[in-house]
Amino acid sequence: MSLPPWSIGVFTSIDAGLGVHLEVARDLQIPSIQLHTPHAEGRTPEAAEKFLEKLDNYGIELTCVFGGFEGESYADIPTVEKTIGLVPVATRSARLKEMKEISDFTRLLGCSAVGLHLGVVPHDTKSREYADIVEVTRQLCDHALHNEQNIHLETGQESADALMQFIGDTQRTNLFINFDPANMILYGMGEPIPALKKVGSHVRSIHCKDATWSDQPGITWGVEVPLGKGQVDMRAYLKTLKEIGYFGPLTIEREIPQDRERQKAEIQHATELLSQLRKEIL
Ligand code: MG
Repeated sequence: MSLPPWSIGVFTSIDAGLGVHLEVARDLQIPSIQLHTPHAEGRTPEAAEKFLEKLDNYGIELTCVFGGFEGESYADIPTVEKTIGLVPVATRSARLKEMKEISDFTRLLGCSAVGLHLGVVPHDTKSREYADIVEVTRQLCDHALHNEQNIHLETGQESADALMQFIGDTQRTNLFINFDPANMILYGMGEPIPALKKVGSHVRSIHCKDATWSDQPGITWGVEVPLGKGQVDMRAYLKTLKEIGYFGPLTIEREIPQDRERQKAEIQHATELLSQLRKEIL
């Protein structure tokens, strides 16, 4: 990667998902992006070529492509359990096939990391259901390996300990973590800084996002808020990233597509905050 340490990044979308459009990154002179995968009809060689041309024109580097599926809903925590990722049985094989296609499209974009929310992994590690999720993850990792890629699991739906056990159980060398401190709070899965220390050896990409705790953690959502306004201690977050040896992009995620102006303003503010902290800490 040609990016300098702790380059600012932003989570973007083309035709799906909640990220900002690429032009926002260009306007704010943000040098790197993660991309939410386009829908199936947008995952063609022509589309990849066009997107790469844009990235080249804007001087932006793509660092990770995130999978996502029709029918997913983050409405509340029980709905997440029923609809997200490769966990729901009814859609599992179709979604595995689609994740493999997303990995192939990511290769066309010259990118070596594919991220996803796997879904809520069953807690009983001796159960048939748990073994099935381990198996489907292995199949995805093996496909990605053919494409010379790593798989990055987004954090939040498991505690740090459960996530490390899961990664160990898959016995795959290309399975890593996209750490999102706000998700730990939103899902009520643990204090983000101790969690980051626990999973540090496997963190290969991160989100810079902020949130406040629910009064019933794990049962109802916390609230996503602008960076610096929530209960993620951003200074401690960056210090801990330095401690674990993470110097990849600081990718801002702010998901309020219903208010594009505010989204852009808050991302600009986040870039300023992160640039200041980087100056102090790096
Ligand atoms: Mg995230």
